Amino acid sequence: MAVAENVALVKERIERALERAGRKPGDVRIVAVTKTATVETARELLQNGITHLGENRSNEFLHKYAAIGKEAVWHFIGTLQSRKVKDIIDYADYIHSLDRLSLAREIDKRAKRPVPCFVQVNISKESTKHGILEEETLPFIEKLAQYPNIKVEGLMTIAPYTEDRGLIRSVFRRLKKLQETVQRQSYPFAPCKELSMGMSNDFEIAVEEGATFVRIGTLLVGENKGVRR
Ligand SMILES: *Cc1c(COP(=O)(O)O)cnc(C)c1O
Repeated sequence: MAVAENVALVKERIERALERAGRKPGDVRIVAVTKTATVETARELLQNGITHLGENRSNEFLHKYAAIGKEAVWHFIGTLQSRKVKDIIDYADYIHSLDRLSLAREIDKRAKRPVPCFVQVNISKESTKHGILEEETLPFIEKLAQYPNIKVEGLMTIAPYTEDRGLIRSVFRRLKKLQETVQRQSYPFAPCKELSMGMSNDFEIAVEEGATFVRIGTLLVGENKGVRR
């Protein structure tokens, strides 16, 4: 399927999920994850009205940024090594994977402006996943007050890859609850308005549970470079 059709289909599925949840149309932004896609495919996404692009490795992020530049809004969505922060920090509009204080310190030191960050939470407690544990998230966020260049834009999670839709839903629901807990603190550095959750496999559940950013790769661009353009 062509990119244009993929975009139309994903948008339609999101709008239907919003409707089911009684949410406003257009309440969710799509971050197209282009990590397996070529620059040409990324450009095609832009031509089809997708403005947010996500990459999970600094080299590929820089490669895409060099080719496309400010035409897109750039999301760094993957595990971020502290030593790579200086390479991407001037170009990343959002970082979705803030999961430790040492990373916050490095972002704060290298950034020339407050950077919208998502605190990554490991709700499902899978050992293979990065992220702060649910019960440690609020104390973690409180410690971010010392870093003026960190703005806690929201929370991010990755649901387990499973057929168990109920389990996936409970993960998203718990992230939403946690967001409400953070918001109740009214920390000026942590408005925490956004929820980054939902991927190709589970974005409709995420939208029903309150996602404001979904991160979608496979459904938009296919599995591999060059495939399904
Ligand atoms: C690859 C990736 C996605 C997109 O996954 P798909 O299943 O291809 O939609 C979303 N979030 C993160 C953090 C990723 O690494």
